[in-house]
Amino acid sequence: MSDENRSGAHPPFTGPRPNRGADLRDTLGRPLRDLRISVTDRCNFRCTYCMPKEVFGPDFAFLPHEQLLTFEEITRLARAFVRAGVRKLRLTGGEPLLRRDIERLIEMLAGIEGVEDVALTTNGSLLTPKKAAALKAAGLRRITVSLDSLRDEVFMALNDVHFPVRKVLDAIDAAAGAGLSPVKINMVVKRGVNEDDILDMARHFRGTGHVLRFIEFMDVGNSNGWRMDDVVPAAEVLRRIHREWPIEPVPPEQPGEVATRFRYVDGQGEIGVIASVTQAFCRTCNRARLSADGRLFTCLFATRGHDLRALIRGGATDEDLYDAITRVWSGRADRYSELRGQATVKRPKIEMSFIGG
Ligand code: SAM
Ligand code: SF4
Ligand code: SF4
Repeated sequence: MSDENRSGAHPPFTGPRPNRGADLRDTLGRPLRDLRISVTDRCNFRCTYCMPKEVFGPDFAFLPHEQLLTFEEITRLARAFVRAGVRKLRLTGGEPLLRRDIERLIEMLAGIEGVEDVALTTNGSLLTPKKAAALKAAGLRRITVSLDSLRDEVFMALNDVHFPVRKVLDAIDAAAGAGLSPVKINMVVKRGVNEDDILDMARHFRGTGHVLRFIEFMDVGNSNGWRMDDVVPAAEVLRRIHREWPIEPVPPEQPGEVATRFRYVDGQGEIGVIASVTQAFCRTCNRARLSADGRLFTCLFATRGHDLRALIRGGATDEDLYDAITRVWSGRADRYSELRGQATVKRPKIEMSFIGG
């Protein structure tokens, strides 16, 4: 990642005083409801579509520990975000379970008045039954485990650290055993790589109570060599599944949901598709992202963030933090996926492992 991307000076926290609290809206009328918190930029996987080894090699400079937000700083910021309308928090990364004592952070976040949901996305590699129970006890409500194939040769080539499928399946069992069900399973689908696993994955998770979600391969960051030809459109995934097991749409539970939901007509459960490339959902996007070093990004494809850590460490009051967040949100005009094209793909962007998926 270039220095410009990493340290990019933020636009000033200026502008007219916006609406307050839950009435806060961005320039396109979208409220702020969801905050994704990246707790580390490190990961023990090198998924080719996210942290390819050629870029994230042994010499890659990850953030030094003192640059990461502390749990206390994250909690203080989260409180300000909740005051600005956020109801759901999701911990991500990098690999969030690499952050020591993450349960302590979950407990702190779950204790914030107004927080309705604390969730976490993980590659499952460190999710033992003991860890799952500890996360649940700390107040975690939901968990998403990523798994792209049931075939070791395919999965190991994708995670690029030789991590076996069995261990991720065990992690999913551990999560369900701890009461974190329904467990969501994220599968990134890449043309010619794991598209043949779509039906196997669907078959495996049908009837288990888990919800498999197919994600279109996205052009996040600058290092995954994205090409439109590598995207398997969600409509195609759905057609393939429907031919085998008829499905029907399920209405969204809440506005701004990223996954479009479907259920098997034979009652064997639910699946979802995240069609961020072929069916952009910017119009309802109510998500903000906090990077591991404390910058606020208002879009997954943003080029620059707003440095909240500098404010916190510079002695800002809670009111100052709230003010900064509401000013940034009220000036937000992001709709990258709706505008996606050859020109936008080439724009410098923040890596997903840094900003939080
Ligand atoms: N390490 C954790 C994990 O893999 O679940 C959390 C962070 S990861 C960045 C969050 C999600 O983003 C994962 O489900 C991953 O598969 C997905 N992801 C990463 N790169 C992607 C890409 N280029 N396109 C679509 N999804 C991607
Ligand atoms: Fe790590 Fe998750 Fe990115 Fe894979 S997708 S490299 S597990 S952060
Ligand atoms: Fe939201 Fe940006 Fe994704 Fe659009 S491209 S849905 S604005 S994160």
